[in-house]
Amino acid sequence: MSEFHYELGADGVAVITWDVPEKSMNVMSNEGYHELGSLVDKGLADDAVKGIVITSGKDSFAAGMDLNVLAKLKDEAGDDPAPVIFNWLMEAHKLLRKIERAGMDPKTNKGGKPIAAALPGTALGIGYEIPLACHRIFAADNPKAKVGLPEILVGLFPGAGGTTRLSRKLGAMAAAPYLLEGKTLEPTKAKAAGLVDEVVPADELLAKAKDWVLSAGDADIIKPWDQKGYKMPGGAPYHPAGFMTFVGASAMVNGKTKGVYPAAKALLSSVYEGALVDFDTALKIEARWFTGVLMNPSSSAMIRSLFVNKGALEKGAVRPADVPDQRVQKVGILGAGMMGAGIAYVSANAGIEVVLIDSTQEAADKGKSYSEGILDKGISRKKVTPERKEQVLARITATTDYALLDGCDLIVEAVFEDPKVKAEVTAKAEAVIGADCIYATNTSTLPIGELAKASKRPEQFIGIHFFSPVDKMLLVEIIKGAQTGDRAVAKALDYVRQIRKTPIVVNDARFFYANRCIIPYINEGVRMVGEGIAPALIDHAAQMMGFPVGPLQLVDETSIDLGVKIAKATKAAMGDAYPDGAADEVLFWMAEQGRLGRKAKAGFYAYDEKGKRQGYWPGLADKYPLLDTQPELSEVQHRLMFVQALEAVRALEDGVLMDIREGDVGAILGWGFAPWSGGPLSWLDILGSARAVDLCDGLVARHGDRFTAPNLLREMAEKSESFYGRFGASKKAA
Ligand code: NAD
Repeated sequence: MSEFHYELGADGVAVITWDVPEKSMNVMSNEGYHELGSLVDKGLADDAVKGIVITSGKDSFAAGMDLNVLAKLKDEAGDDPAPVIFNWLMEAHKLLRKIERAGMDPKTNKGGKPIAAALPGTALGIGYEIPLACHRIFAADNPKAKVGLPEILVGLFPGAGGTTRLSRKLGAMAAAPYLLEGKTLEPTKAKAAGLVDEVVPADELLAKAKDWVLSAGDADIIKPWDQKGYKMPGGAPYHPAGFMTFVGASAMVNGKTKGVYPAAKALLSSVYEGALVDFDTALKIEARWFTGVLMNPSSSAMIRSLFVNKGALEKGAVRPADVPDQRVQKVGILGAGMMGAGIAYVSANAGIEVVLIDSTQEAADKGKSYSEGILDKGISRKKVTPERKEQVLARITATTDYALLDGCDLIVEAVFEDPKVKAEVTAKAEAVIGADCIYATNTSTLPIGELAKASKRPEQFIGIHFFSPVDKMLLVEIIKGAQTGDRAVAKALDYVRQIRKTPIVVNDARFFYANRCIIPYINEGVRMVGEGIAPALIDHAAQMMGFPVGPLQLVDETSIDLGVKIAKATKAAMGDAYPDGAADEVLFWMAEQGRLGRKAKAGFYAYDEKGKRQGYWPGLADKYPLLDTQPELSEVQHRLMFVQALEAVRALEDGVLMDIREGDVGAILGWGFAPWSGGPLSWLDILGSARAVDLCDGLVARHGDRFTAPNLLREMAEKSESFYGRFGASKKAA
């Protein structure tokens, strides 16, 4: 099946149209590359062709490279994959260079055919790298379109010449937001930034591009870098201004990434080294660094978790197949507090009718006003129109009247974390709602099976666990009680899809999955304070592994009294098996001192009047004097990583996790587990099961049994297995 079409008009302009069959957006495949290459050859070889326009048959140009192709590239490249990957990249460079040089004489730069890109909408990744190789970029005036190079966000960098071309077109400094941060722009802003050349009305797009092609002369189609005397805008590295840029960029990248993302470093190196040589050598350098990135296990793990598997989960990979569409029309939300208010906003924003209930009208109204606040902020940032705000708010009915729940097809309960209160509102809601309605609880700690006892229809009872703040956090954890039926699971998944978040489905057990792993992370950090390890070493060790916040900062944010409450409840439930006495000693003492965290402006950190962190609280060192000899950074890091990763393995062993993809994607989106690693199970795969077991044995000897390698990991080490090797085909644990 053809992905590109070719049509030569009477005007002598050949139009190459990208239109991948049966896809709503174009993505580049290996076949696509070959087709585009041969059509460009055809146009350049035909004397009747005066010039070429490359456009799309869809309302967007292209979403980028098919990352599934990249994900498989290394595995399918044989025993020595690096040269295979490098040659593959050089083929792409050759094709784009052919477009750029367009048949012109290498010496005189004359006689080439003008080639324009005409972008009807979004053009990302290779979808912008192809236009960058063309001689002029026309974009339709489509404010919904996005133009740019977001590769860095999935652990890659633009590897089809985008890095080399954009840095030479704009200069390293001006290109930095697009290359290093993956920033994308709508066409008008893209023109102002120099990413596209012209923005034209959508219905004139092709005509304008053709007009240009027919009028362009030799001088209009030579790229600056192919002309004598080309100088990089803003200065190349040995120019004084360029020197400042590169030193600054390097510091910024290392500051932001802590050196754990190979793609960011490789990108900088490509720009820097490429700037010192001619254009074609620079492309080779880009290809070498890109090969290095693809050879790094971090990149394949990131693509696998953040693109392939995240996408699969969002599309319903774990949805019961035989249940018909369960999209939600009207949701009833019980409790308009912090969580209920956020759930109301994301639901109404997705077009769902919302009934938001609290025990007083004032509390319900306050919950609704949360949405108003978010929408007003959106208006001030020009992301939301006043009409949109009215539409969204009109969907939310704030009330105390349970009778208004009539007609709801989903209830999400978010009242106090108290089984009695929860049972009471379950009964009140079930007295009104229809027989088909699914009832979900947003509890973070109470077993779903226990709460379901208050329901008349436990097969329609399920956990839908949001993370705070609801409008920002991307993950939703769906929890199946022992009696939860398939329709409830399908309903929860269809709802999560409507509100555009990523779901994982887990079985019912203490703390489900995410909190089960976060709590040991916090406890390990707190325990280290008690041992006399410097607090800065603890938090920095975590951040240098790629965590957004260290455990001490995290517990200050979530509050120390919540930690105490959870610890007491867990201890009561577990009895002698409770492992965290050493952490509790510190936590309980902090609570006694009234240091309850950021909300009290006093915690592991000291805070100023406005609640801004002011460094660690000096009183900590009086109570827990620092060890004379502090541990190695790697020891602290291994403790913090293993304590979470082993919990993920135990969750898999226990059957709480049913799919390793969910364990990895859930960890990154749910609590920011080192994204560069692809998630805790991917991280263990990168280490290798045998090395992981060895490290665990060492940690057990030095720090205790909580680091005991689970049987599953030990067995895998004996058989030289990896998680994705063992569970990869079925993705299932069972
Ligand atoms: P919150 O105290 O901010 O809100 C609870 C709301 O429920 C209050 O507005 C209260 O007035 C209302 N309420 C209490 N009893 C009621 C009743 N009988 N009828 C109607 N409304 C009633 O608490 P929250 O942080 O929003 O947490 C709500 C639930 O979400 C809890 O189960 C909690 O464990 C869970 N949760 C919280 C977080 C978090 O980070 N805060 C994260 C995930 C899940």
